[in-house]
Amino acid sequence: MFANLSDRITASFKQVRGKGRLSEADIDATVSEIRRALLEADVALPVVRQFTANVRQQAKEAVASQALNPGQQLIKIVNDELVEILGGAARDLHLAKNPPTVIMLAGLQGAGKTTLAGKLGRWLREQGHTPLLVASDLQRPNAVNQLQIVGERAGVPVWAPEPGNGVGDPVQVARTGLAHAQDKQYSAVVVDTAGRLGVDTEMMQQAIDIRDAVDPHEILFVLDAMIGQDAVHTAEAFRDGVGFTGVVLSKLDGDARGGAALSVATVTGQPVLFASTGEKVTDFERFHADRMASRILD
Ligand code: GDP
Repeated sequence: MFANLSDRITASFKQVRGKGRLSEADIDATVSEIRRALLEADVALPVVRQFTANVRQQAKEAVASQALNPGQQLIKIVNDELVEILGGAARDLHLAKNPPTVIMLAGLQGAGKTTLAGKLGRWLREQGHTPLLVASDLQRPNAVNQLQIVGERAGVPVWAPEPGNGVGDPVQVARTGLAHAQDKQYSAVVVDTAGRLGVDTEMMQQAIDIRDAVDPHEILFVLDAMIGQDAVHTAEAFRDGVGFTGVVLSKLDGDARGGAALSVATVTGQPVLFASTGEKVTDFERFHADRMASRILD
């Protein structure tokens, strides 16, 4: 993903790299080219506007102050602004003072939540936690079974609906799962929830009810980076509905344009915490804005 964006931006740097002097026209040409590349990659318009205005202003200041090596300076300014729109420095997960830490997943159907639950469970285990996955997606017929399979692959136990703990009632499954985790002293609980193909009020209400039942320390909004322009609207709907504290970008291994997903931190004001890069339980990493920016600008 982002190969085209990356090629376009690095090509635009060729004109300025190593130049001893930069004119306003040089800056304008480079910034315009980057602007076009960002828009073509589906980065949201307000984000592109903010980005180009900031870069242009700082670049002109650098030229006015006769910075040494202004071409290199411009590249650094672009890099820093890109890091900024990607959400800046990474933060750690919010952990409970009194475990278990409760992490709830939210997002559309197919976004990659169930797959992520396994990945996150495995990652938490590596971080020294004892996680429990809770199957509160009862919408998709196969979702519970799928969570059990990813749980097995990740080596993490799964709380699934059974008679007495909330069959048919995702809120009750979440509640009993959390009680079980408290009872057995699990240190982290990951609650998988149902999504629909599009945002609808019933789905959002169910997510809100689960949220209110388990009072999560983190609500992670899982966003399929391949859904293109819809990413921003979907993120806004979840922000205004159930709300969330962090974003997980999934399917970053795809070859779609994906720029809309890059806009999500700026648009929603919440950081991207993790990236999912494939179907395997190991295809998962912490998201670092600076590393993503250098990948794009390399
Ligand atoms: P959910 O409906 O949100 O629980 O989504 P799933 O976890 O079932 O994922 C939907 C589909 O996307 C499944 O076929 C997954 O294997 C696939 N998937 C999930 N995450 C990724 C990813 O990071 N990359 C790729 N290529 N596929 C993924």
